[in-house]
Amino acid sequence: MPEQVTHFKDGEIVVAGGAGFVGAHLVRSLLKDGARVTVIDNFHTGTRASLSAQNRLQVIDHDVATPLDLPGPVSHVFNLACPASPAHYQADPISTWRTSVYGADHLAQFATDKGARLVQASTSEVYGDPLETPQRESYRGNTSTIGPRACYDEGKRAAESLLMDFHRVHGTQVRIARIFNTYGPGMAKNDGRVVSNFVVQALTGAPLTLFGDGSQTRSFCYVSDMVAGLKALASADNIDGEVINLGNPNEITVAELAALLGTLLEDGVEICHEPLPLDDPRRRRPDIGKAQRLLNWSPKVSLQEGLLHTIDDFRARLG
Ligand code: NAD
Ligand code: UDP
Repeated sequence: MPEQVTHFKDGEIVVAGGAGFVGAHLVRSLLKDGARVTVIDNFHTGTRASLSAQNRLQVIDHDVATPLDLPGPVSHVFNLACPASPAHYQADPISTWRTSVYGADHLAQFATDKGARLVQASTSEVYGDPLETPQRESYRGNTSTIGPRACYDEGKRAAESLLMDFHRVHGTQVRIARIFNTYGPGMAKNDGRVVSNFVVQALTGAPLTLFGDGSQTRSFCYVSDMVAGLKALASADNIDGEVINLGNPNEITVAELAALLGTLLEDGVEICHEPLPLDDPRRRRPDIGKAQRLLNWSPKVSLQEGLLHTIDDFRARLG
């Protein structure tokens, strides 16, 4: 089975959330394969500037919490529309929940009507504060339905449940990616997630804001690896109704991440401690056996290499 799937050449592809961080990388990669791409985005956290104009790309300002209707054939729909940074998704939690749940509903209806494959960007957050590690797809999670992260975690869980019902009831060609922390060039300076916060702080001489004692872990996946995984999920045959973890299993503590940036930047970094946010998961590490088995996919870019690319990108943008 070829690993880097490039048969999107004549694809008519809709990417909801295509102006965001992961979405813009995915759109560029699909365009490079020769696909025609329609981006659906309300520019809540994404920007038009993340996508440069070209004739196989159209960008439509649309909120996925309302029904979508587009003329013409569609082969694949990627649903990435949802703020992903805790700072952003908690700023307007009602809108986050509606985006996740109503967005999944409308895009599932749209994909069903078009006979298109639908790739849903779900999240490792469906595992909540996991009691099992590494997290396998069969783990049912440890989430709070009422906490500050619930708009996102529970919104994504409800979306998964709705999409599986579309698959069972209407035969919709649903594939669900549970995405683990993804980072890389192009993240917004004010994104608020840990990698972009730390890199911006380090490059501007500010202390790194370490939440809690820094012993909580995450497993960081470089964005090109994530894009390859999402494309593999979209192009594989006979996997409708599958839920698959995509992420890099290399787990480190947030304190180690800060220290690694200090080493990579050579000048070292200063740390200031801030309180750990409520319900912040203690551990996060994907079991990617299923992605390896069904998609022949695994990440290639080491954290050190990915951080160096990310630092270069932010350095250029920060001047
Ligand atoms: P992002 O915030 O950079 O991008 C999200 C995009 O969706 C933005 O362009 C935003 O404007 C758009 N959007 C938000 N609400 C919308 C709405 N109602 N209608 C239309 N567009 C809307 O986030 P990202 O990091 O690129 O994440 C993309 C997807 O991947 C999200 O669904 C997220 O939940 C999922 N995910 C990402 C990560 C990660 O680490 N990056 C981890 C787990 C899951
Ligand atoms: N974090 C931190 N400093 C920051 C931002 C985040 O220490 O400036 C921590 C956060 O508490 C969490 C981890 O880094 O434990 C990852 O946070 P992020 O917001 O990137 O994503 P999450 O995995 O929590 O959704």
